[in-house]
Amino acid sequence: MNVKVKFLGGTGTVTGSRFLLDIGDFRLLFDCGLFQGLKELRLRNWEVCPVDPATIHAVVISHAHIDHTGYLPKLVKEGFSGPIYCTQPSADLMELMLLDSAKLQEEEASYAAAHAYSKHENPLPLYTTQDTQKVFSLLQDHPFNAKIRISEKIEIIFRNAGHLLGAAITELFITGDGQSKKIVFSGDLGRTHDVILSPPTPIDEADILFVESTYGNKDNPAGNPAAELQRVINNTVSNGGVLLIPAFAVGRTQVLLHYLHVLMKDDKVPDIPVYIDSPMATSATYLYYKFPQYHKVKFNQSEFARQLETNMLVFVKNSKHSKSLNEIKRNAIIISSSGMMTGGRILHHMYHRLRNKQDTLLIAGYQAEGTRGRRLMDGEPTIRIFGEEVPVNCKIECMTALSGHADRDELFAWMKNFKKPPKLTFTIHGENPDLGIYAQAIRDQLKWNVVSPQYLESFELFNGI
Ligand SMILES: [Zn+2]
Repeated sequence: MNVKVKFLGGTGTVTGSRFLLDIGDFRLLFDCGLFQGLKELRLRNWEVCPVDPATIHAVVISHAHIDHTGYLPKLVKEGFSGPIYCTQPSADLMELMLLDSAKLQEEEASYAAAHAYSKHENPLPLYTTQDTQKVFSLLQDHPFNAKIRISEKIEIIFRNAGHLLGAAITELFITGDGQSKKIVFSGDLGRTHDVILSPPTPIDEADILFVESTYGNKDNPAGNPAAELQRVINNTVSNGGVLLIPAFAVGRTQVLLHYLHVLMKDDKVPDIPVYIDSPMATSATYLYYKFPQYHKVKFNQSEFARQLETNMLVFVKNSKHSKSLNEIKRNAIIISSSGMMTGGRILHHMYHRLRNKQDTLLIAGYQAEGTRGRRLMDGEPTIRIFGEEVPVNCKIECMTALSGHADRDELFAWMKNFKKPPKLTFTIHGENPDLGIYAQAIRDQLKWNVVSPQYLESFELFNGI
């Protein structure tokens, strides 16, 4: 039996993760992400899929983030009808996140049509809510650490990756005609000391490793996130403004709530209202109650809720309420998504607040190339929102200490668990030039055989096993 891989995304970018394995005559897609950020990448979402989706037998999903799942509705629309394997929280989170993604696609298309800023006469969404509903009946959810048979010759096990609720490292076992082989996909790896999730499970063996590279060439500052948050909140309050935090609805929002709870309880910051203006963040917070075995905060629901509560915590439910927040001039914190400011209610808040010099916008997560978040980090004087150039007068703060991604030291610490070098390691899910530097560092420090694959490149992994 021969085993091949083809890279359909996640190469030289942190988005569009899709890796196609041909294992004998079984065709498996690992992750099915949407390209985001740079236009040349986003255009790939619209191209004809490089392989016919109807020829794929199964999909395995590492975690629910859109850069790993957001292409699923299109894959199904174009003929994929096999099982989609994932963990239990991933299945629930995917329903939230994919429906949200569909809504954003629909809104963007109708907004572009109404305001005629699209070159297309009648802009269409990449996929609709109806397309997305068809994904859910294909989901097959499994707990961590269970052996899952996906074909006569292939089994997988999901292990905790500590990056997002239910995020998994995947061990894939192939029983060849004479030999058995093991492939490991790291998925996105989390932090060693996250306040909510446990650290990534050590893996000690693989023939082939696909390792993520997001922060492969960066050390997250050892800085204390609570202290940084305290400084930013107090500065904003003394400037007489509002603190706006674009945050990923799942994961980052709950971590922020936990820190705000601690800071207000200890009187480190004033007890001011905290608005969670993201329907998805609200729903996702309930999933933390539903799946206590997937995180390390108290197993008791009320105790968990207490650790996320502040005196004036408001879950904003409808868009009318959301818009009314524009009237607030000072002493408030608004957390809204999407985290990279590519869509969602955060855009309305940015449209109104970027121009206010007394307000602060706090960037608290990874910002991919080409996103509004990255442009703000790079200090651009205006940001395009709803077809208008909005001047950036507010204060922009960045804190990477809250990142949900392992940094360089943590990635190396995880790789050092391998007792012997994998035969081949692919560095995926990273941007250049950091990706190349990271790959070279792995070669130098661990003496591993490392390849940074290119888009649509193929490799023979095993021959005649
Ligand atoms: Zn992720």
